[in-house]
Amino acid sequence: MESISSRILEVTPSLTLAVTNQTKAMLAKGEEVYGLAGGEPEVDTPEHIKAAAILAIQQGKTKYTPAAGIPELREALAAKLIADNDLAYDAKQICVTNGAKMACFNAILAVVEEGDEVIIPTPYWVSYPEMVRLAGGKPVLVETKESNGWKMTAEQFEAAMTPATKMVILNSPSNPTGAIYTEKELREIGEVALSEDIVILSDEIYEKLVYGENKHVSIASLSDDLYNLTITVNGFSKAYSMTGWRLGYTAAPKALAEAIDKIQSHTVSNATTFAQYGGLAALQGDQTFISDLRDEYDVKRQFVLARLRAINNIRVVEPKGAFYFFVYTGQLGLKSMNLTDKLLSRYKVAAVPGIAFGYDEGIRLSYCTTLDVLNEGLTRFEQFCREH
Ligand code: PMP
Repeated sequence: MESISSRILEVTPSLTLAVTNQTKAMLAKGEEVYGLAGGEPEVDTPEHIKAAAILAIQQGKTKYTPAAGIPELREALAAKLIADNDLAYDAKQICVTNGAKMACFNAILAVVEEGDEVIIPTPYWVSYPEMVRLAGGKPVLVETKESNGWKMTAEQFEAAMTPATKMVILNSPSNPTGAIYTEKELREIGEVALSEDIVILSDEIYEKLVYGENKHVSIASLSDDLYNLTITVNGFSKAYSMTGWRLGYTAAPKALAEAIDKIQSHTVSNATTFAQYGGLAALQGDQTFISDLRDEYDVKRQFVLARLRAINNIRVVEPKGAFYFFVYTGQLGLKSMNLTDKLLSRYKVAAVPGIAFGYDEGIRLSYCTTLDVLNEGLTRFEQFCREH
């Protein structure tokens, strides 16, 4: 249609949300589905967080807040960032947003101009390239290798750079691969970014879901220069099982933080007021929910890893964080969309096609579900692989 902007016409809807919605619709109709496509913890938000938001509503905290969020929450986030991430941000440098998704979009809008290039390692989180397009920029995709644990090397980053490069997006731990960049790798990538003043968007939404000996490192904590070039994104969705609350944040150097606040003030005004009080309770309350969740996911991760490794015509790299497996399915000879369609219609297993992440020879399986669903879903997936 002529009246739709070319920017929007170029953008494709979120495939991950589409698969999740399809699964939920099938379940609502009473159909049998083994959902391995989800992108959210299956457990409920902790009670003390819900209670704080309910109390906020009862106390009339139902009006606008400052665009960047209530001061108490921004202070609590500043305290969290120093304690957990060795990142010294003043509360003024933090903008509370409607989910980490909005945080990423605000960050991109604040930096990217028409025609600017943004380097994105593939497989990427589904929304990055579309957000860049929405901002008028050009996504430049860098294909990472399975042999390098699906991580972009500093050399690959450097080779992809042009005079138009404005930003690079890092997501560690990664959705969809579970890859975690080590401090050394971040330093190497950081050096390349510093050489041409490339802004780093560091999406750290899965920072709490890190397994075994692996460590999460915030790239902005590695030097003052990197701090000055980085927008750190994080949120409440995954760590506190608060996906529906729509609560995330950016932390950025002063000038960038002010730019982000401007965007926020003219678009959404502020993150939902009572959700912000829930977020405050999440940060100030008992944190054992997070370690319990991580321990539970580690058990599931190892269970799924063993099951997938027993299938001989697929390959898998052990994910170090988040709650996904990115499975190489090239040997099955099916386009990823075809594969997941067949898997859902004939075997009743929901998975996300790799094409959603810019990689057509794989699929994403998530383990944020019950062991029973994982067990049956994997038995069916194994059967699917055997029959193809
Ligand atoms: N970044 C990544 C890598 C994600 O996987 C997600 C959620 N799927 C988000 C950002 C957005 O999170 P939120 O729900 O807080 O908007």
